[in-house]
Amino acid sequence: MIDVDNLDPDYYRRRGLRCAGCGSEVETFNVITGWGLDWALGHVVKYVSRAGLKAGAPAASDLRKARWFLDRAIAAAEGDAGAE
Ligand SMILES: [Zn+2]
Repeated sequence: MIDVDNLDPDYYRRRGLRCAGCGSEVETFNVITGWGLDWALGHVVKYVSRAGLKAGAPAASDLRKARWFLDRAIAAAEGDAGAE
């Protein structure tokens, strides 16, 4: 059986963002796909959006993860995808 809560945890919706047009809930997934972000930048948004909201995950830990992906996005943008 699929654990839907595990697939779609509510901490990706807890920021309380609503669409200005229709009022529907906007979650992290909508931002990442709506902006057409690639793997690295999608993960930056993912970890920033849930920082401090996921039980058992300290905000600093999620922000470090975001930084790890951001560093890779910067390296790729600078044409050096393998850089640390
Ligand atoms: Zn809308």
